[in-house]
Amino acid sequence: MLDEIEIECPYCGATFTALVEPDDADSDYIQDCEVCCNPIHFHVRDDGGGGLAVEVARDDDS
Ligand SMILES: [Zn+2]
Repeated sequence: MLDEIEIECPYCGATFTALVEPDDADSDYIQDCEVCCNPIHFHVRDDGGGGLAVEVARDDDS
């Protein structure tokens, strides 16, 4: 089952919806912002209440 989680771009502040599923917990991935095209680092984690939370950060590794 997909969860829709609203996130905010760490570069331009645009908000959009990320789709995550339980299998994504504890995974990391990079997705380009739909607005400014910068690479956003997503970290999906368990929110401790049976749901999922998504943290976003700039991709500072590169
Ligand atoms: Zn952006």
